[in-house]
Amino acid sequence: MPTINDILIASFGIAQVLWFFAFGASAGSLINVLVYRLPLGLSVVTPPSRCPSCQTQLTWRENIPVLGWLMLGGRCRFCKSRISPEYPLVEAFVGVLFAGLYVLYYLTPPEARYLGIAFGKVAPAWAGPGYGFASPLLETWPTFGLILLLMGSLVAMTLVDAKTFTIPLILTWIPVVVAFLVHPVHALVIERMRGGLSHTAAGWVWTIPTPGPNSWYWVGAAGGGLLGLGFSLLLLRFGFITRSFADYGDWEKSAREATEAGSELSDPEMWTRYPYARREMVKELAFLALPVALAFAGGWVADRVIGATAGWSFDQQTQGMVTSLHVPLWLSALAGSVLGYLVGGGIVWAIRVFGSLGFGKEAMGLGDVHLLAAVGACVGWIDAFVAFFLAAFVGVAWALLGAVFGGLRRHLPYGPHLAVATLLTLLLRPLIQTGLSFLLHTPIELP
Ligand SMILES: [Zn+2]
Repeated sequence: MPTINDILIASFGIAQVLWFFAFGASAGSLINVLVYRLPLGLSVVTPPSRCPSCQTQLTWRENIPVLGWLMLGGRCRFCKSRISPEYPLVEAFVGVLFAGLYVLYYLTPPEARYLGIAFGKVAPAWAGPGYGFASPLLETWPTFGLILLLMGSLVAMTLVDAKTFTIPLILTWIPVVVAFLVHPVHALVIERMRGGLSHTAAGWVWTIPTPGPNSWYWVGAAGGGLLGLGFSLLLLRFGFITRSFADYGDWEKSAREATEAGSELSDPEMWTRYPYARREMVKELAFLALPVALAFAGGWVADRVIGATAGWSFDQQTQGMVTSLHVPLWLSALAGSVLGYLVGGGIVWAIRVFGSLGFGKEAMGLGDVHLLAAVGACVGWIDAFVAFFLAAFVGVAWALLGAVFGGLRRHLPYGPHLAVATLLTLLLRPLIQTGLSFLLHTPIELP
């Protein structure tokens, strides 16, 4: 016999799940607008949603995510032309994604198993172990919100990338800027209020991997890398270093004119035939020289300066030299976010440079660099690293599906694989944790 308390908790939980679904569906509605308007260079704010064929403005009821489309029966009220089912599907998908992540992170008890799968283990340590009224959501919602923002941005990037083979960079910059703000401010508040998070993974202090309490080296390296990136962008802006692939547009135009009319004209893989990819990598290496050099210099300087002011002592536990001055939590969180950004972007860029030098054609786009950098800024460098390797398997799985079912698009750009791999990295956390512990011969708990 359920008690009043049980019923209250259950209805409270259901209300929360419905709220997150509605929130996600509304985010999906915004994503639809972004996906439609960004590639066309249209304003995202104005005008209000219209029928693409007759320009009739949608009423507020017709604008309700999912339901609006169902009420209209998938056709425009005025001109009766079909409205793509992609819109309600995206809205429903993002709604389920947001509600699903909420259920897994905050409503699933740690010991929960269903069909032999340990769903209770998916939530990271910082989101548990309480649930229902004891949910740690109150303390950790900024990070959870950041994950939802990242997921929404990835859905939008995936849709645009699959359609146009480009990623609008604004979609990658928004989560980065928000992550650089939210992580340190959230950490500052938590540190002031209660000294730290109530729950963290063993050996970690924040919701993402951060430099250790004595790792001034990594704080300096993160700062130096970011500073170097800023300098390189300035040098690029004022023409001291040149932008790579600057002549790609001209080359593509003349190449298209040279080929016979027909299928070649709409070849989305035209870029693979651009012959100067190796030459262009030299320009990108010149761009990368400063961030890499300043990251090393920043680490070295931070180590020396802090070591000189605070003094060094030998730590028995870690068998290394430590300073008495600990990295404050807010700086740890910020450095963790910046390191995630640099490592995420850095892996893809390194593969891009080596791949392009090796194969003589552009390997991985700069959009993919920005995409994984955004993932790293939001969820930290370990998840970005894991997602990068998972993406290769996602690519293989997609190719196999394409071979089995035919019809599917033969070739997708890499961005969607990275996006799917990022979601998998969050969902397969227990499995990845076991795998990493096995590989490194030491128990690993991921933040
Ligand atoms: Zn119409």
